[in-house]
Amino acid sequence: MFDTSNQPPPLEPYNLFTSDIVLREAVKREQANWADNGLTTLGSTLGKPEVIKLGFDANKFAPQLKTLDRYGHRLDEVEFHPAWHELLAIALRAGLHSSPWAEPKPGAHVARAAGTFMLNQVESGVYCPVAMTYGAVPTLRHAPDIAKQWLPKIFGRDYDKRFIPMKEKITVLLGMGMTENQGGSDLRTNSTRAEVQGDGTYRLHGNKWFMSAPMCDAFLVLAQSAKGLSCFLMPRWTPEEKRNAIHIVRLKDKLGNRSNASSEVEFDGAYAQLVGDEGRGIPTIIEMAGHTRLDCCIGSSGLMRQAVAQATHHARYRVAFQKKLIDQPLMTNVLADMALESEAATALTMRLARAYDESDETAQVFRRVVTPAAKFWICKRAPSLCLEAMEVLGGSGYIEDSIMPRLYREAPVNSIWEGSGNVMCLDVLRAIERTPNAAEVLKREFADAGDGRLKTFAVALQQRMQAADRNDESQARALARDLVLALQAALLIRHAPPAVADAFCASRLSEERGGAFGALPRGVNARAIAERAAPQG
Ligand SMILES: Cc1cc2nc3c(=O)[nH]c(=O)nc-3n(C[C@H](O)[C@H](O)[C@H](O)COP(=O)(O)OP(=O)(O)OC[C@H]3O[C@@H](n4cnc5c(N)ncnc54)[C@H](O)[C@@H]3O)c2cc1C
Repeated sequence: MFDTSNQPPPLEPYNLFTSDIVLREAVKREQANWADNGLTTLGSTLGKPEVIKLGFDANKFAPQLKTLDRYGHRLDEVEFHPAWHELLAIALRAGLHSSPWAEPKPGAHVARAAGTFMLNQVESGVYCPVAMTYGAVPTLRHAPDIAKQWLPKIFGRDYDKRFIPMKEKITVLLGMGMTENQGGSDLRTNSTRAEVQGDGTYRLHGNKWFMSAPMCDAFLVLAQSAKGLSCFLMPRWTPEEKRNAIHIVRLKDKLGNRSNASSEVEFDGAYAQLVGDEGRGIPTIIEMAGHTRLDCCIGSSGLMRQAVAQATHHARYRVAFQKKLIDQPLMTNVLADMALESEAATALTMRLARAYDESDETAQVFRRVVTPAAKFWICKRAPSLCLEAMEVLGGSGYIEDSIMPRLYREAPVNSIWEGSGNVMCLDVLRAIERTPNAAEVLKREFADAGDGRLKTFAVALQQRMQAADRNDESQARALARDLVLALQAALLIRHAPPAVADAFCASRLSEERGGAFGALPRGVNARAIAERAAPQG
């Protein structure tokens, strides 16, 4: 039997909060200092070996669809491994599905963002129903009678996995169904029909090509009614306590996100209630989309953090050519470059979460313009970073025993769902055009950051945002990317150590940006940046 040597210890147990300097600083800066104790407890729970194992098990034992019982009666149920339920119980206990609505206070969305940022590092599939439930609350409030019934159960913290009518449940979770086979981005093509009944409720007929987490207790769904596309709440059980006519056709065989079920469904006269004004379905459900897009930023930032934590941890122990990997100059450069990306993503995500805590003009403009831009760029950066981090672990990074393949497979989904890259960038153009004072508010974010490179970059960006051809769709990706880079640079210049801010500006605001990680120019303090990113304690 050979001796095992030169292998790092597993990164466990560890505290995902206290070990993460960047996250801790961001939580403090963005007004959620009061949440430190709760986040420390959650960080410790999530970093326990037995909880980390739940993430592996939930993905290894994928959900199973049960369409019919043995006699042929419809079931339309999905069975999950116990690990899935245990992880959801942890998430709900921490209030990650609803705490900012249940207990609003300054920094509430930031605190919840920090919690979900950590949850996502251990298991991303459960994040889906958690995010959708969180996002559904402002949309549900468009129907006060429905909200009165559902919100108290959404605000509960004792996860209830039973598939029973809402009235009997302790807590409930919500999903949403917008995407149809013939078009997801262009929701106007939705063909599901909603027929009004004598009592003012509706029956839905049609299908959804994607409807994730189908064991949720209800779904916000778009369907065409007499006045056009409208938003509905469609529960899994009818008021008569019968299974609603939501037939799960099949589960998607997905690249990643395998612990979570994503389904194709048919509605065969499914009971539903109108939410918001009839014919105003898109504006009603888009409020939910704003929050779930924030969650895509949190999710991708979390994946990048976990990838960087694993890579820096490995490089601190593994020796090659007589030196620890973290001491090999080219590896230090790779680690530092990834650390910059991760820190910039975390800083902007938490700044964006604060905008969801505030209601002044700056916050409203920031939310409207920066949410789609950040979703585009942060989610786009995650897959390539996860790939690079996997390579730091060498061959072992490609093996399923490490978390790296799971991070890599998970990373693209945040970019695709809830508005794919191009759709987000076109939304940025629309938001800049239609939001009064957008250019002014954004300018304030870059102003006085005190770095000549950012100043030059920001002036050029402002000119592009005001130029006659500013709505040229072919350039929307470049504009969204540069807007995010300017915001990230400004945040790092103001709040991060000079080594981080300097390297970010030198590598991201220059003409030579892009390409593979590990091409930071000479003169940056790569070692300090890599050490800051390595899990502390
Ligand atoms: C794992 C997973 C889970 C999902 N869960 C859900 C769910 O729970 N509920 C739900 O409703 N949906 C869900 N979706 C669906 C997802 O939101 C859609 O797939 C997504 O919005 C894109 O829609 P589409 O697939 O119809 O692609 P299309 O709309 O056909 O878009 C294809 C491509 O064209 C681009 N494009 C579109 N319009 C333009 C344009 N004008 N200019 C330039 N480019 C354009 C898009 O950016 C995209 O890259 C899920 C998807 C995945 C992968």
